[in-house]
Amino acid sequence: MVKFLDIISPMNRRNFLACATLTPIFANELMASNTKDIYLSKEEWVLLVSVNTRLKRVKRYVGFANFNLLSFNDTLFYARNYRKIGAFTKKEIAFMDKLFHEDQSQYGFYGPKTCENINNKISRKDVKKISYTGHFLFKGKAQNDYENLKKDVGNTIILTSGVRNVVKQLSLYINKIYNCRGNITKASISIAPPAYSYHTISDFDVGIKGWGYKNFTADFASTYEFSKMQKLDYIGMRYNKNNKDGVRFEPWHVEVI
Ligand SMILES: [Zn+2]
Repeated sequence: MVKFLDIISPMNRRNFLACATLTPIFANELMASNTKDIYLSKEEWVLLVSVNTRLKRVKRYVGFANFNLLSFNDTLFYARNYRKIGAFTKKEIAFMDKLFHEDQSQYGFYGPKTCENINNKISRKDVKKISYTGHFLFKGKAQNDYENLKKDVGNTIILTSGVRNVVKQLSLYINKIYNCRGNITKASISIAPPAYSYHTISDFDVGIKGWGYKNFTADFASTYEFSKMQKLDYIGMRYNKNNKDGVRFEPWHVEVI
């Protein structure tokens, strides 16, 4: 990763040299701002783009719902064995491994690790598929919470994301870095890195039926459903405003307590 802690003048030599390792699009942005954010290098950007598209091909192959549970080794297996996906290269695997294992505090993400093993397995026996959502919940507390929440808040509430194993989280993280044009610091605020998501062990997201992408905006906090959720004592809110993990305000994210 390339770090830009000492950029003061947009035209200084150090900045210019740093920019030389980035793709032109990032370099232009960086030259125009005094940023402390960390960006991917040019070589990493190329890997990110290829891994992103390959993971999308894996998702298309195994299906949206199954992709939530898929392990890392199974992902590599499908890629190796189905020509339409194409095997991950050694560099791509090393890049994914790095994203999983690196210290995230350098990007301003301070949450605890929730998963130590990149090849974490989630057994079908331990999860329940929730009809019409394409998502799963862990049996037990998470599933009970969701069912009670629907009873207490109303049928307008719907599961928008449940169990996410490492590969699903990795794919969301990578796609977010892509949309942030290589700015990892910015991406880490809006999505937990792959070893740090509570979706891998317990939590889930809810929204309002028909609200689509708006469910993942702060607008959710102004809904009747959210105000009712706040009164329930059997669930928590993982990412409040100014949370210590450094994650943005996520009113839709239910903490399983
Ligand atoms: Zn969430």
